[in-house]
Amino acid sequence: MNKHILIVGGGYVGLYTALRLQQKLRTELRDGEVRITIIDPHSYMTYQPFLPEAAAGNLSPRHVVAPLRRVLPKVSVLNGTVTAVDHGERSVTFQPVKGEPRQIAYDVIVMAAGSISRTLPIPGLTDIGIGFKTVGEAIALRNRVLHLLDFAESTEDVEARRRALTFVVVGAGFAGVEALAELEDMAKHSTRYYRNITPADIRWVLVEATNRVLPEVGPEMGKWTLEQLRERGIEVKLDTRLESCEGGHVVLSDGTEFDAETLVWTAGVKPSPVVNDGGLPLDERGRIKTTTRLTVAGVTDAFAAGDAAGVPDVTNPGQYCAPNAQHAVRQAKVLADNLVRHLRGQELVDYRHKYVGSVAGLGLHQGVANVYGVKLRGFPAWFMHRTYHLSRVPTLNRKVRVVVDWTLALFFKRETISLGEMEHPRDGFRAAVATTRR
Ligand SMILES: Cc1cc2nc3c(=O)[nH]c(=O)nc-3n(C[C@H](O)[C@H](O)[C@H](O)COP(=O)(O)OP(=O)(O)OC[C@H]3O[C@@H](n4cnc5c(N)ncnc54)[C@H](O)[C@@H]3O)c2cc1C
Repeated sequence: MNKHILIVGGGYVGLYTALRLQQKLRTELRDGEVRITIIDPHSYMTYQPFLPEAAAGNLSPRHVVAPLRRVLPKVSVLNGTVTAVDHGERSVTFQPVKGEPRQIAYDVIVMAAGSISRTLPIPGLTDIGIGFKTVGEAIALRNRVLHLLDFAESTEDVEARRRALTFVVVGAGFAGVEALAELEDMAKHSTRYYRNITPADIRWVLVEATNRVLPEVGPEMGKWTLEQLRERGIEVKLDTRLESCEGGHVVLSDGTEFDAETLVWTAGVKPSPVVNDGGLPLDERGRIKTTTRLTVAGVTDAFAAGDAAGVPDVTNPGQYCAPNAQHAVRQAKVLADNLVRHLRGQELVDYRHKYVGSVAGLGLHQGVANVYGVKLRGFPAWFMHRTYHLSRVPTLNRKVRVVVDWTLALFFKRETISLGEMEHPRDGFRAAVATTRR
């Protein structure tokens, strides 16, 4: 019988689960045994570890995403959002990008909706705050930094210039440190084209509520990263919280106050809101309660993995798998295999993966790594970071494009133009219409 498998989310887990099921359609699964649908607001999967490089202009934004329809020709891709799941009825509410919502029935659901920025009710956060999870945010930030350099060079207002050249990043995990390091490197490089801005004029502040940076690479390499950032002139404020940033006036818990026009918020993630409207059981952190076999606890015909799921870590009893790509991509493989076993009435297997450590890029030719206990810093770590992610980015097509981008960057200088007007493409035309006499 034709079973409908519905995958909610086309990110890491969604894409890799669908890819593996698609492979099985050619081998293990019988003709017409299943049909697969994937739902995501975007028509592409974002390879998030490359977002900092896209923000720095080392990679084209198009090359850090994988087009779902091209990669998954045997899967139906619907663009829109799942706003509610009625698992009792085996049906979801699908809100297309435009138009009326409709119900979509399924036999088996895979919850792969990932996470969103975890924010706090901080006064003013929406005035100047921006996240760093999507390709849109990464490119908007790049444009913003370059635009503010343009502005700073053109103004005679000293206060406005200082404010424009002050950038704050809150949260010193992967996303925050990599984004800050790449953007700082790009801005420093760009100053050579400005007559009255030097690297020393640009202020970068990293605010972290705990007493360490980049916990993903362990305490020793985290300490080394902290020293590196400080040597580069970045102000790193540990054990410090953002109290408010109303109208761009930043107030920190250590009493520091200053004005800034840009604040990047990367202080953690929380599950995508759809998990709250899922009628599926949640754990104490609001993630979908998941078993070691990647099924949703206590219900049948439902699987979950990735940032939206609380997956027990069998290699570290009592703990959960961290929300990262390392787990997401491996969970997707086990999930797809277990899903097929489930359809066959076979025994499912546990998801087992011991965290092997991490690599992080800290700007061109700079990085830090702690993988399988091997600790690297500087150029070797940066090289490892690039090779590892190149091996992981989905599809040969994307790998080639990424290599071409990097190779071109070896021979030509970085692009340092702000194309911020792409965010307001109709402004010029509107202004022209406004000048037209009636
Ligand atoms: C800047 C940055 C750098 C990172 N670097 C690393 C790294 O170096 N190493 C590492 O291991 N991890 C890294 N991570 C973390 C890693 O990217 C995530 O853990 C991983 O993407 C989680 O995969 P996922 O499938 O659960 O979620 P995602 O990949 O985020 O996919 C979720 C998908 O679900 C979609 N979705 C959400 N809600 C709905 C809905 N209601 N209906 C339909 N679709 C929905 C979203 O649009 C998205 O496409 C990084 C993250 C960021 C932001």
